[in-house]
Amino acid sequence: MTVHDPSLGRSGGLLGWLGLGSKPVDETDSSTDAAPAVPARERRQSLRERQLDEINRFLATHQLEVTAHTLSIAHAYLTSADPHLVRLIDRQVQTRKPVTIEWLDEVFLRNTSEDEVKTLADLMQRLETSIDEFGKTSHDAQQATSEYHSALEEHVGELEQVTAAGAVISELASIAKVMLKRTRDIEKQMLRSEAQTRALRRRLDEAKRSAEEDHLTGLPNRRAFESRFEAEYREAFAAAEPLCIAFCDIDHFKLVNDTHGHDAGDRVLKLVADSLAKISDDRCHVARHGGEEFVVLFRDTPVAQAYAKLDQLRETLAARRLVNRATEQPFGQITFSGGVADAFAFADRRSALKAADTALYRAKQAGRNRIELATTEDGKPADQPAAA
Ligand code: GH3
Ligand code: MG
Ligand code: MG
Repeated sequence: MTVHDPSLGRSGGLLGWLGLGSKPVDETDSSTDAAPAVPARERRQSLRERQLDEINRFLATHQLEVTAHTLSIAHAYLTSADPHLVRLIDRQVQTRKPVTIEWLDEVFLRNTSEDEVKTLADLMQRLETSIDEFGKTSHDAQQATSEYHSALEEHVGELEQVTAAGAVISELASIAKVMLKRTRDIEKQMLRSEAQTRALRRRLDEAKRSAEEDHLTGLPNRRAFESRFEAEYREAFAAAEPLCIAFCDIDHFKLVNDTHGHDAGDRVLKLVADSLAKISDDRCHVARHGGEEFVVLFRDTPVAQAYAKLDQLRETLAARRLVNRATEQPFGQITFSGGVADAFAFADRRSALKAADTALYRAKQAGRNRIELATTEDGKPADQPAAA
């Protein structure tokens, strides 16, 4: 197991050293008047050396081989260029788990598929806009054609009524009849294309639903959760309603996979997802955040009540004794740990999410199978759980 070296810090300044920060190193910068005049080139050189030093220490601390892949990971971590990766590595270190190449590969595999989902979602968003625009244009055109058709029909009727029809008039009447037939055909085509647009729209809605759903558990996935959290946060804030966020993580889930196999692990994951989903309704949203982690959003629920609800779920699941139906072998006790945060006790959504995550890891450290309340930024409990 690798040991975390607390002196191995990430420094935002590293971005600047690399020329990736928002403010590039300026050779003629006069703001450093008071500092001894070190030529900019030397400054950059020394910064580069420090950066290489930190990358070196990162790889050595985690006993990672020096490859292009591990170098780019160390770089992304130390410069905070990939905040999600930073969070995962920090958490792995906090919980005294090794940062191995196998673990990193798994993390990257998960991230890549998430990126693909995001690209697909962006494409679908653009397609949706085009379909809506086309649908509107074709509806307007169909309506205009229909009105034109009615007007033309009326004129043809009037022309035919003219008794003293000379050659010019009867020619006009036959041209108008041809146009009448054409508008009828166009109208039919327009109706067909409107129906096709509606069908396309339905298919797109289905695809969108599927892109926001976790296929194993049937719960909304992290992408769906992110947009739900954003909307609920905004609405709850405007309505001055409480909003809580909880992170839940199955305890020792790797052991389930290792003992019973991945398929059995999938079934356990689904069972935990189903247990959590029992509390979901239009004010409580449960989603799979990734791996064996779930998030719960409690709208219009004070933090003590959110804590009590989650703790009740935890207790109910922990009381069950599950058996692997494929082998009849007992799974034993399946439990989860959780961290709950009052979303408005923190500066913003991100900080609330992070606080719930930190509380979850306190629950892990305190022995698992428990729920912890997030502490506010000044270290005080955000609220007290309801008395049992
Ligand atoms: P802890 O109590 O500290 O959370 O320990 P843990 O074993 O649950 O946590 P760890 O992060 O070490 O392992 C999580 C495991 O979950 C590793 C990964 O293979 C497994 N996992 C993630 N997603 C899935 C999945 O969709 N199906 C299955 N079967 N396993 C999964
Ligand atoms: Mg776990
Ligand atoms: Mg986990």
